[in-house]
Amino acid sequence: MIALAVTSPNAIAKRLTGRDYVSYSAISTYCQCPLKYAFKYIEGLPEETISSSLAFGRAVHAAAEHHFNELMSGAPPPDQDSLLSAFWDAWRSVAKEGVIKYGKGEDTASLQQTAERVLTAFRLSDLAHPTGRLIGVEEELRGSLVPGVPDLLARIDLIFETDEALVVRDFKTSRSRWHDGQAENQAEQLLLYSELTRQLIPGKSLQLEFAVFTKTKEPTVERHPVLHDPRRIARTKRVIERVWQAIESNLYYPAPSAMSCPGCPYRKPCRAWSG
Ligand code: SF4
Repeated sequence: MIALAVTSPNAIAKRLTGRDYVSYSAISTYCQCPLKYAFKYIEGLPEETISSSLAFGRAVHAAAEHHFNELMSGAPPPDQDSLLSAFWDAWRSVAKEGVIKYGKGEDTASLQQTAERVLTAFRLSDLAHPTGRLIGVEEELRGSLVPGVPDLLARIDLIFETDEALVVRDFKTSRSRWHDGQAENQAEQLLLYSELTRQLIPGKSLQLEFAVFTKTKEPTVERHPVLHDPRRIARTKRVIERVWQAIESNLYYPAPSAMSCPGCPYRKPCRAWSG
């Protein structure tokens, strides 16, 4: 009898993308535009441009990460200069990946002022001083959530434990305050991550939430809770399963849209693509 070799989903992912896992952002990139996914994750094309809003969000994340790492190590909260320094370190590192494309009326000086305002609002907000035990900052968790699909790798911005719950918090930077229901619209990622985080303290209830920083003239830092919804988790898993089947089948095509294309870093290879 001939034994057939069975290749694991992680091994297939490694062969296709160089990584033996999938991330939520990879799956959502595929959902946004399958060709963009292929350029980024299969062909590994460098990004020609990076939008300033993406760079700004990553730099604010880095500053918040620095803040919570200091708290977790037992140090006092970092001051404004220290947060700004973490912000610009991250900004420079993004700038090495591609040319940063500024928005209308923006330049480095205006972004410096926005960063100062946003980080001041953050430092003064309750969200910068969680009550409870800090468990993880940019915590990497991975696990198999869907049979036949590679492990999901999650990087969770902040995890802490209160008397009542294990809190899982994701930071977002936004041009304006989130309206009612916006957290629910974007809940899939946190809901999926809840499947990995619940294993950290079995039996403890989970509290999922976004912390949204606005880049407005008077920045706000607000919590937006997400309700646990098993049916939505099951549905998200089905989406991931279908997307993975499409990736395994090399199903890539452009999905042009007014939302995605203007800021897409792969416009040139996209125009050259002929199927
Ligand atoms: S330019 Fe538009 S269609 Fe082309 S890869 Fe980017 S998002 Fe997709």
